[in-house]
Amino acid sequence: MSGKVFLVGAGPGDPGLLTVRAAELLASADLVATDALVSKEIVARIPKSAEIVYVGKRAAAHTLPQDQINQLLIDEAKKGKRVVRLKGGDPFVFGRGGEEAEELMAAGVPVEIVPGISSSIAGPAYAGIPVTHRAYSTSLTLVTGHESDESTGVDWPVISKLGGTIVFLMGLGNLGFIVRKLREHGMPEMKPIALISKATTPEQRSVTGTLADIEPRAEGLPSPALIVVGDVVKMHDVINWFESRPLFGKRVVVTRAREQASRLGRLLEEAGAQVVEAPTIEIAPPDSFDSLDRAIDDNWHWLIFTSANGVTSFFERLAAKGKDARSLVTTKIAAVGESTAASLRGRGVSPDLVPDKFQSVALLPLLAQDQNGVRTAVVRAEEGKDELMEELRRRGGEVHLAVAYRNEAVAPDANELRAIDAVTFTSASTVDNFFAAVDPASVEGAVIASIGPVTSEAVRRHGRAVDVEAEKATVESLCEAVILRLS
Ligand code: SAH
Repeated sequence: MSGKVFLVGAGPGDPGLLTVRAAELLASADLVATDALVSKEIVARIPKSAEIVYVGKRAAAHTLPQDQINQLLIDEAKKGKRVVRLKGGDPFVFGRGGEEAEELMAAGVPVEIVPGISSSIAGPAYAGIPVTHRAYSTSLTLVTGHESDESTGVDWPVISKLGGTIVFLMGLGNLGFIVRKLREHGMPEMKPIALISKATTPEQRSVTGTLADIEPRAEGLPSPALIVVGDVVKMHDVINWFESRPLFGKRVVVTRAREQASRLGRLLEEAGAQVVEAPTIEIAPPDSFDSLDRAIDDNWHWLIFTSANGVTSFFERLAAKGKDARSLVTTKIAAVGESTAASLRGRGVSPDLVPDKFQSVALLPLLAQDQNGVRTAVVRAEEGKDELMEELRRRGGEVHLAVAYRNEAVAPDANELRAIDAVTFTSASTVDNFFAAVDPASVEGAVIASIGPVTSEAVRRHGRAVDVEAEKATVESLCEAVILRLS
């Protein structure tokens, strides 16, 4: 099969602003060639199966010259790979996407362009600045701020008289020059101007002023940054929603419980917090494949899968033994949870039984009361609940536990755990998991927040005091308690 290069916009930084198409392509890429501008949160979403190459350029440190980037894309695609060329914002807005596409076309490599949300629009939006507004601006102009003399391109006399909104990209280092040119060509010195640094990320900072006073205010502002000039900047004080959220700039640890979607994490993020998950759960192979092999090699009336990870491990092991789904023709299959069922269907196996609830015990009412002579294998993680197996045995069945994988608790690196403002605990077991994986000294000084008395007790057993306890034992209430304490 011939390869292809996808020129994909990664959006301005917030991973939520990736397009659906970009996320799909990242999930199926063989190789991802990424810019320095692409946020680490997005790079973290690239599956382990894909090779990542940093071809990024940041003003000073060019990692690869443009012609070598082009050659790399061409060579890898010609090897038959699906190559995703990931670019900050939109690939055709000051991203050299046009040049790369031209070269790829010339080399006969198939190309697909996936537009992204450009920082030039999203940055102002996240600073509460609408780029057009009926009262203030009827046009939007995007200008490179990179030009440091008048010899090329930018027509300052025209730009200065355009009116409307002007967004300069790549201009922070040139702010003085840009302001001078605009004023020289007649733009009033009271014209509002905003600088938006690291837009749409937890480190976003915006600064506003006028052409007359913006320069000293830009002191120390890190790049990348946008410069927005125009009367719409007045709206910043009114609509500045992102940086004014109660937990903006706060780093909060969420201790995830197994098999529990992190609703708390989402609530905290919506309140503006930067959420650090700790420990994270990684999937590791079982200590021994013996019990899984028995599930594969013996004959069973029922195979029960309790997670998509279990399905993946089972089929990987099946393939390693030179077998495939046809081994299952005489076996009935049950899947706990929709994603487990979907994972089976993806392998051509339609489960016979899927309970409504994502709980293995929810299978019990659906299985025969009399299990005499029935042989069942349960494929799951080493760590798991035994109620289902116990009940099937009580009904007279023969039940085999096939350990397909292990959930391993891994602490994030020390850098992630730096400057933590709060650590949240939602159960006694998350407390134990956390202190087993993370050095308590690394979160000294952080507010310890607990969901209720039992959890608080577990925290105290580890020698730490609890600073806030939720009023009600819900994640909403816990989030509120953290907001009250930190804002
Ligand atoms: N293709 C990109 C722009 C690439 S040029 C896009 O559509 O967004 C690089 C410039 O984009 C930077 O110098 C800066 O001006 C701007 N930029 C990109 N991401 C940004 C961000 N998160 N915050 C502020 N400016 C950003």
